[in-house]
Amino acid sequence: MKGFGVIEKGKVGWMDKPEYVCGPDDAIARPLALAPCSSDVHSAYEMEGPHLKNRILGHEAVGQLIEVGSNVKDFKVGDIVVIPCTTPTWKHPDIQDGTHQDAGGLQNAINFSTYEDGTFAEKIKIRSADMNLALLPEGVSLEAACMAVDMMTTGFYGPELAEVKFGDTVVVFGIGPVGLMAVAASKLRGAGRIIAVGTRPDCVKLAREYGATDIISYKEGNVGDQIKALTGGKGVDASIVAGGDLETLYTAIDVAKVGGGQIAMLNILTEIESINIPNAAIAGFLAHKTIKGGLCPGGRKRMERLLSLIKYERVDPSKLITHRFKGLEHIEDAFYIMANKPKDLIKPIVLM
Ligand code: NDP
Ligand code: ZN
Repeated sequence: MKGFGVIEKGKVGWMDKPEYVCGPDDAIARPLALAPCSSDVHSAYEMEGPHLKNRILGHEAVGQLIEVGSNVKDFKVGDIVVIPCTTPTWKHPDIQDGTHQDAGGLQNAINFSTYEDGTFAEKIKIRSADMNLALLPEGVSLEAACMAVDMMTTGFYGPELAEVKFGDTVVVFGIGPVGLMAVAASKLRGAGRIIAVGTRPDCVKLAREYGATDIISYKEGNVGDQIKALTGGKGVDASIVAGGDLETLYTAIDVAKVGGGQIAMLNILTEIESINIPNAAIAGFLAHKTIKGGLCPGGRKRMERLLSLIKYERVDPSKLITHRFKGLEHIEDAFYIMANKPKDLIKPIVLM
């Protein structure tokens, strides 16, 4: 089986892997739509470890089933399925503690392209198929569904973690695909004012379409000062971080309001040894601010809920797609475009 992945840190390429053996709870699909993620670029060039050697990358896919295990009840060969990037086994007792993402160990639920091979291949093996797959609903395009499996579930997790309420003032730092979905989700959760931080014109335009009421450029003056000026010095109810660096996180904490300000950190910062939150931003822990972060939720029910939002036209994540390719061999081009991030890129997709 041919796949595209990381050969060793800093080196990507095509590789041959043995054919999958379909376990009783598993399913095997051929890809119909694939998309690279900023996290694939982090995995290839910034992260290290034995699990990232000769590892097929990719965790965003829609596919067609070509084999199902003997225990799989709800899916059959030929079904077109939406494959979440987070696919827990659902069999670890930690699941009962409520955070399926880390059941069995840190980020155990994201096995694609980490502990097992990812989706950039001729075949994709999905574990716990009945619990993780969702059928592509009628009326939902392959493109939109492929944007749901990671971008939408991650972006939507921001306002969920930050517990956005009706009328809240929210700031979203970064309006790449993840931040744009956080903007859309904040609107769906009833936010009043939504301040988006970013600069690329296509992203700014889409941020407004998804619900941003104010745009701030981090290239034109201090972002914290700009947010405080917009909010009369009070700060925001919710700060969602989907881009930038450590300083961005500190700003997000600083501008969250004293007395209940919520911070959701979605940005994955690699190669950072420690986080030193300026004391002024939290007033020596007297400011009642809450900081949360984590891997995006996955599994079948999560996908079905997001797909319902697409089907009934609450949100259209296919607007994120700016670059389209045809044929599995072009996953390489899509990956490189993600790594190089040209100014007009939001999200690439490869259709088979
Ligand atoms: P992009 O690189 O496409 O977007 C980043 C955004 O951040 C851009 O809008 C950019 O602005 C903006 N930005 C850059 N510097 C700053 C700054 N100093 N202050 C404020 N904004 C800034 O990223 P993605 O949307 O693809 O992904 C965002 C992050 O989410 C990545 O780290 C990714 O790995 C992570 N992620 C996390 C997951 C999770 O489960 N927690 C899952 C998937 C992804 P500009 O308009 O100028 O380019
Ligand atoms: Zn991802």
